[in-house]
Amino acid sequence: QRDNSSTGSRNGQGFKGHDMLAPFTAGWQAADLNPLVIAKSKGSYVYDVNGKKYLDSLAGLWCTSLGGSEPRLVAAAMAQLNTLPFYHSFWNRTTKPSLDLAKEILEIFTARKMAKVFFSNSGSEANDTQVKLVWYYNNALGRPNKKKIIARSKSYHGSTLISASLSGLPALHQKFDLPAPFVLHTDCPHYWRYRLPGETEEEFSSRLAKSLESLILAEGPETIAAFIAEPVMGAGGVILPPATYFDKVQAVLKKYDILFIADEVICGFGRLGAMFGCDKYDIKPDLVSTAKALSSAYMPIGAVIVSPEVSDVIHSQSNKLGTFSHGFTYSGHPVACAVAIETLKIYRERNIVEQVKNIAPRFQDGVKAFSNSPIIGEIRGTGLVLGTEFTDNKSPNNPFPPEWGIGAYFGAMCEKHGMLIRVAGDSIMMSPPFIISPEEVDELISIYGKALKDTE
Ligand code: PLP
Repeated sequence: QRDNSSTGSRNGQGFKGHDMLAPFTAGWQAADLNPLVIAKSKGSYVYDVNGKKYLDSLAGLWCTSLGGSEPRLVAAAMAQLNTLPFYHSFWNRTTKPSLDLAKEILEIFTARKMAKVFFSNSGSEANDTQVKLVWYYNNALGRPNKKKIIARSKSYHGSTLISASLSGLPALHQKFDLPAPFVLHTDCPHYWRYRLPGETEEEFSSRLAKSLESLILAEGPETIAAFIAEPVMGAGGVILPPATYFDKVQAVLKKYDILFIADEVICGFGRLGAMFGCDKYDIKPDLVSTAKALSSAYMPIGAVIVSPEVSDVIHSQSNKLGTFSHGFTYSGHPVACAVAIETLKIYRERNIVEQVKNIAPRFQDGVKAFSNSPIIGEIRGTGLVLGTEFTDNKSPNNPFPPEWGIGAYFGAMCEKHGMLIRVAGDSIMMSPPFIISPEEVDELISIYGKALKDTE
């Protein structure tokens, strides 16, 4: 029996409980809820209200790519706030920052030629928009039955009704009457966990592509509109695509005229040591969702990137179907766009992709050196994203009893030693800011080691 509870007040006021219905928080109604209240950030660190310093190994929620104190982003926001804090982009009215950002995103996305950008406020809204775009597209083409979307088990695509439906995590469905009936889930491509005895990565990928094809045939290809995938699965536990996986999946989708939606909300803008996951894994998507690192999270913004084929159909058919009646008050919010423009400028000037590539081996090799621990099943990652799965005996089939709370305990020990990580069951995840220094990586590894020792 372990004591995971933190001692003392974590909010500086000694209060117990609070008035928020807090997102993804267990027992939010409990009277003794004792949240960690973060008050300040600087570089790769955040500070709680008591002044305790934590290395932010998750970059907020996989998003503060430039760390917590980039003055140029603050200046960009202030300049825009002082000029035009808000105007919308409805009815053929818009603002210069949104026009400039759309142009910039189309230039930066080079995995294939894309045509248009739609702005949302979040990754969830971006993925909801994708489904509406895909439906509108098929309605425009006179294919009203081609509407189902295939996502993957263990994926995370957001928490609105549609994006939670797309997500392949049961916790997002239970008690919410989800997933919606038009969403189907296919296999999670986690080689270590789901391979058959003796199966190579390539054979595993072939088997999953066949399974995807069987699902399409069983449902009827004329009913399947799109497939959505994160290049590297994030919140599901940092799951990398096995060798040849995306080649084989793309071949199946092409065969049945099914669109590929790449969810780049975590992977996009450099996290994997490539500008996009699509570059890294040679994915030629029809639609792309981005958010998070687009603005280094200094302002909420997401962007849907649309291929010429989809965009052309929507434009040419809009006479028949009328206005594309979709959008948010804050689609293309000028302050968020100004911050995003500055973020992308900094990425370019500092060659952020090279920076991530250079620091990644220190991070990956340093943490993976703990792979021999008897409580670690697998450590996996690429670029600046990394997951650890705790299991007994190195086997994916020997989970620890959930009541032991190994992952949660490890997370609590990291926090004690001054580092914040993401815990999901017996998986823990890290995705530090792109600007993390070699010394900070060493500190991250050292705290990881201490927490591991405490947990063993
Ligand atoms: N897609 C992916 C891959 C994500 O990781 C997330 C959030 O973590 C989302 C979508 C949802 O983004 P948001 O929380 O901004 O709605």
